[in-house]
Amino acid sequence: MRKFRHFDAHTIDEACQLLSKYQGRAKFNAGGTDLLSVLKGDLLPDYPEAIINGKTIQGLDYIREDGDVLRIGALARLSDIAGSPVIKERYKVLGETALSVGSPQIRNAATIGGNLCQDTRCWYYRYPRHIGGPIQCLRKGNGPCLAVKGDNRYHAIIGGKKCFSVCPSDTAVALTALDAKIIIASPKGERSVAPEDFYNPLGNALKVGEIVKEIEIPASPPGTGQRYLKFTLRRPIDFAIVSVAAVVAIKDKTCTGARIVLGAVAPVPYRAKAAEEAITGRPIKENLASEGAGKALKDAKPLSMNGYKVNIARALVKRVIMELG
Ligand SMILES: Cc1cc2nc3c(=O)[nH]c(=O)nc-3n(C[C@H](O)[C@H](O)[C@H](O)COP(=O)(O)OP(=O)(O)OC[C@H]3O[C@@H](n4cnc5c(N)ncnc54)[C@H](O)[C@@H]3O)c2cc1C
Repeated sequence: MRKFRHFDAHTIDEACQLLSKYQGRAKFNAGGTDLLSVLKGDLLPDYPEAIINGKTIQGLDYIREDGDVLRIGALARLSDIAGSPVIKERYKVLGETALSVGSPQIRNAATIGGNLCQDTRCWYYRYPRHIGGPIQCLRKGNGPCLAVKGDNRYHAIIGGKKCFSVCPSDTAVALTALDAKIIIASPKGERSVAPEDFYNPLGNALKVGEIVKEIEIPASPPGTGQRYLKFTLRRPIDFAIVSVAAVVAIKDKTCTGARIVLGAVAPVPYRAKAAEEAITGRPIKENLASEGAGKALKDAKPLSMNGYKVNIARALVKRVIMELG
């Protein structure tokens, strides 16, 4: 690792002020499970001059119900989210995604804010210095996306624009299905964005001086089912090849509302609105689940090596609709 200055932030405001002062040349550190490997691999175009330690901010790891809303502090650990009784009971899909991340050691250190803001896993972007990297690419501001003509088996099949790396965060998929809001703090105040608007093809919506402060999740109405399915190459410790999070309301065996979100298929969590519309207002049967799954992937444009992801995604969407129906 190279040298950097290190600051313990004691409040959100102090962290934001320090990040502002360094004008993009500082990084916020939460659990460090992603940031430290990024620093060790020397992956960033500009090595940070300062690291702002967020773990010294007391009390930002809460998980609490506030009327009809669940509030989760950005420093809440994934293991606490997976084990939270209220999340298991009322926000099950989020608990399932948190539990699907990495290993117990990772979940005991990783925070939800860090999970949302983690850097891409694209193997061109991540090519480390000790074996000949870094490799320049569009995401690093220099050159084309190497996946387009290269080995793109794990890259985007929908919505790729310029950069075809996929959003690696499992929790972002569940939070999109739950219609959550990400609360962002900065020296100028706070703003909130939906998870699907938090990401863009080259990263996320955070501006200099901003950090994720809180996640706000509205309670789902009674009778709503929730489920996360994740397809990986290895069962333990692996990122999704494709995942799906669904929140589906059923009354008298008929779907009265649905949010179906695909993960690891696009640079952002991909809301399968055509599938949601196809099943809403209709009784869930196998042929309807197949129809919804077909519609979910209607805009897929796979690259040369990742057409197999389309079939997996269809199968997962069909399965999740059948399970919740
Ligand atoms: C072996 C392994 C397996 C993994 N498997 C999975 C998996 O299956 N699914 C999955 O989703 N992830 C997986 N991950 C990634 C892991 O979930 C992330 O590393 C972790 O969630 C990041 O959280 P952190 O608190 O450690 O973040 P850090 O490493 O501290 O930070 C990561 C990035 O987010 C920024 N950041 C952190 N918190 C905030 C905040 N509050 N506001 C603004 N920016 C912030 C940091 O500046 C940094 O850029 C895996 C990681 C490893 C090492």
